[in-house]
Amino acid sequence: MFVAADSLKGVGPGLARPLERLGLTRVRDFLYHLPDRFVERRAVPDLDQASVGENIVVALTPVEYRSSAGRGPFRVLASDGPGNICAITYFGRNAGWAKKSLPLGETRWIAGRLDQFGQLLQIVHPDHVSEESAAALGQLVEPVYPLSEGLTQGRLIALIQQALASATDLPEWIEPGLFDKMKWPSWRDALELAHRADHPQARDRLAYDELLANSLALMLVRNANRARRGTPLQGDGRLRARINLPFALTGAQQRSIAEIAGDLVQDAPMLRLLQGDVGSGKTVVALEAMLIAVEAGTQAALLAPTEILARQHFDTLKRMAQGTGVEIALLTGRDKGRAREATLMGLHNGSIPIVVGTHAIFQDAVQYRNLALVVIDEQHRFGVGQRLMLAQKGKRTPHCLAMTATPIPRTLTLAQYGEMDVSKLDEMPPGRQPIDTRVVAVERMADVIAGVERHLATGQQAYWVCPMVRELENEDLAAAEARYAELQLRFGDAVVLVHGQLRPEAKDAAMERFASGAAKLLVATTVIEVGVDVPSATLMVIEQAERFGLAQLHQLRGRVGRGTAASTCLLLRSGALSETAKRRLALMRETQDGFRIAEEDLELRGGGELLGTRQSGDTTFRVASLDQIQRLLPLAHNDARLLIDRDGGLTGARGEAARLLLYLFERDWGVQLLRGG
Ligand code: ADP
Ligand code: MG
Repeated sequence: MFVAADSLKGVGPGLARPLERLGLTRVRDFLYHLPDRFVERRAVPDLDQASVGENIVVALTPVEYRSSAGRGPFRVLASDGPGNICAITYFGRNAGWAKKSLPLGETRWIAGRLDQFGQLLQIVHPDHVSEESAAALGQLVEPVYPLSEGLTQGRLIALIQQALASATDLPEWIEPGLFDKMKWPSWRDALELAHRADHPQARDRLAYDELLANSLALMLVRNANRARRGTPLQGDGRLRARINLPFALTGAQQRSIAEIAGDLVQDAPMLRLLQGDVGSGKTVVALEAMLIAVEAGTQAALLAPTEILARQHFDTLKRMAQGTGVEIALLTGRDKGRAREATLMGLHNGSIPIVVGTHAIFQDAVQYRNLALVVIDEQHRFGVGQRLMLAQKGKRTPHCLAMTATPIPRTLTLAQYGEMDVSKLDEMPPGRQPIDTRVVAVERMADVIAGVERHLATGQQAYWVCPMVRELENEDLAAAEARYAELQLRFGDAVVLVHGQLRPEAKDAAMERFASGAAKLLVATTVIEVGVDVPSATLMVIEQAERFGLAQLHQLRGRVGRGTAASTCLLLRSGALSETAKRRLALMRETQDGFRIAEEDLELRGGGELLGTRQSGDTTFRVASLDQIQRLLPLAHNDARLLIDRDGGLTGARGEAARLLLYLFERDWGVQLLRGG
């Protein structure tokens, strides 16, 4: 079960990449790759008997291939008995494959959803193309799985079935009373059921397992942390008094600093989360904390998720700390040679008290004289596991301050951060210009583009954001590139394009052109979410805004409104929106309070829908939905607590089963702690 995916029959080098993109690298991952939904299909004799939007199986005969320019789709025009024409449409580089499976003049059974494209009927990426009769395809209720390019439903179904066949039942880790009360199936049965039909109890059980694993692991971390010794840090304030600030600290900042200082004087290492919206002023709080460590004669390190962010922090901190005379060094993977050697030396002998950088600051080659505080920015990008690895660095466990701008509703804080102590910056620095946010129908595209033109004419810059969702990667990328091409016709060289599939150097170069002001308009998929700070960019257009999670929209919008000029954010929406979708966008217009947005988004979306954070690749939970987290997390949390209280070493029968569970959900760093102590 824990062996690599290529032990499944039919997984060669060709499939490795598409599978990897879905996170399917081990046999175990296939078990937990659960269907998005199930389709029921109707076999129809011809297209006259089918309606648009329906899932059908129909016999069609390809009559013509039609490719479009650039990255547009490849279409196979096919005819039914009475002579109706339907396009079988493929996005991406699928022309060769399409021609092979749909030879001209030969009838095939096609299963898929009938859509309309202008006057043309079409089936986009059919689920099946087969030489067999409709009987083989049409009667099934079939799972529909999230896919990636190069992978078909049929292929994935076969692999998942293989994985299921290889899975043996495991001892039960759920508390027997709860298990009986919920009438849940066993682990093995739950998997089988969840892949076969829409079975809420099976899905709940599997989600519960994930939540339980998470709670257990976080509690083990907490316990281990309590048992450790840190270095009590008592600052005398002499350095902090010399910080160079053109403003007074907000009440929330003062409160957070006091909470942190209170933790630092303790024997046990701090494990605290600083939660504060974009722009709420976390950096200065981090600096105060680090200076306490320096005042107490120790070292502090700040870890950033990306190179760009590390540099940005380095510049800001240096500026603020200028008057203190404290040396701050930057260390990233790109630093080489003499400068790097000097930094390593300084960290080793203690002459450099503060270092800012990427993961490079925790490589083996980097030795600290007495590292006592680690600050981690954008904590949700690092696994808790990595956080622990950091903790091993000093002779004593360093205090840890994690910072995040992701506004997380209260119910989810527990799941995401377990039993960390939380400080909240729930007060914005005064004098922020509100961002004028408007919801605009996509039909007004011409006006929007004209608006962008007027904006650029004033010398200011703008962002143009296109959605990019993994399941629709090809279509989304094609749409983003088409938009870029259109805007380029209008604005020429002033436009740059950035998306996740560009080579890093190309991406950096484009970002650089925009940041330096050489380019005026940045067309981007959501890669700009973190780490861009261009104060003269004061307009943001977001296409298909309804497809984004609100938390994500909020983060995106936080890219404007950074300078002194007034900023605008245009949320383009498509025509037909559900009531919920309308209210979600209205909420964005109403408020800029990230915490309120997070809370209300949770309420509005209610059951079933997935965590918005999943779109951005944050995979705290892969199985549990938002609704399941809300319903089941309190149960899992209690259950975990009871188990740990009774059997903290996880050595009893249930404890042993729980270890398997932790392993299953890759939370076994919790178990490693039991060993290492
Ligand atoms: P965050 O990291 O929380 O997004 P920053 O620390 O980058 O926010 O701060 C955002 C901006 O607000 C910076 O320009 C910073 O100098 C400024 N700032 C921070 N605290 C205050 C304050 N109390 N009053 C006014 N401006 C502040
Ligand atoms: Mg920040």
